[in-house]
Amino acid sequence: MAQLIDGKKISADIKEELRLEVETLKEKGISVCLAVIQVGTDPASCVYVRNKTRACAYIGIESKSYDLPENTTEEELENLIEQLNHDQSVNGILVQLPLPKHMDEDRIINLIHPAKDVYGFHPINVGRLWTGEDGFLYCTPAVIIQLLKRSHIPLEGKNCVIVGRSNIVGKPMAALLLRENATVTIAHSKTENLKELTKQADLLIVAVRKPKFITADYVKEGAIVIDVGMHRNEENKLCGDVDFEDVKPHTSAITPVPGGVGPMTIAMLMENCVKTVRK
Ligand code: NAP
Repeated sequence: MAQLIDGKKISADIKEELRLEVETLKEKGISVCLAVIQVGTDPASCVYVRNKTRACAYIGIESKSYDLPENTTEEELENLIEQLNHDQSVNGILVQLPLPKHMDEDRIINLIHPAKDVYGFHPINVGRLWTGEDGFLYCTPAVIIQLLKRSHIPLEGKNCVIVGRSNIVGKPMAALLLRENATVTIAHSKTENLKELTKQADLLIVAVRKPKFITADYVKEGAIVIDVGMHRNEENKLCGDVDFEDVKPHTSAITPVPGGVGPMTIAMLMENCVKTVRK
């Protein structure tokens, strides 16, 4: 029977471990502070920011919120980031994406000091990811490694196929799997004979942004399947890039949507925040 990889439970475990660590750090006079910048009032961003500040409060991380109006200029945002880069009481800086259309997201992200870049988006942290140096890891791929490790699923020597090559999921996922000594293939929209490829995977990671794209005929019997996708279906219910009911009976382990990768993202972000002071 397939093992259900429980992201909710693992996320709660990580948050509890971090809460205890932050408590111990505070006893030593060390505090952790995350600055969260939001530009505009995009409803989804408001929910994400609220969830992040709640998680900070639970763990004992101080959070400073900067809610800027939609018409903020790039220069004003730049000045705020510069000020926070130099503020010694701030350990991590997070700019909630997407930014309004008049702003150049890449340029703004690159302004965050790499040592405070808790999202791991800065090119220096991306470089460190590929060279194997210590740096901040992109949250979603780091989540997947944690889910697998904490579910006692070995990766060394395994044949891993990632479907999707985005800069935030597919590519950094490949770098992290290589670190774990897995053999990695990345597939994308131009890949030929996708099914033949995915059917060879011991571990199949799916990030295609297409609801229920992966069905049982893409999956090797007994494979481990990680679903990164997140969509709302016609009934407003959450579903992933994997057709869970169809695929599950053919796997040895699988993440559900909701309750798999999703709930872990904030826990990994909190882990990166605490890492700023561990260093
Ligand atoms: P993305 O930037 O849209 O990338 C999708 C990737 O899928 C692209 O590389 C694309 O190939 C590939 N693709 C599209 N159609 C394909 C096909 N028919 N066959 C093979 N590959 C195909 O997506 P993303 O940002 O990586 O996100 C992927 C999913 O994960 C989304 O559903 C998103 O909502 C979800 N997500 C969840 C979390 C979380 O925390 N749970 C975090 C991030 C993202 P090309 O490069 O050739 O176009």
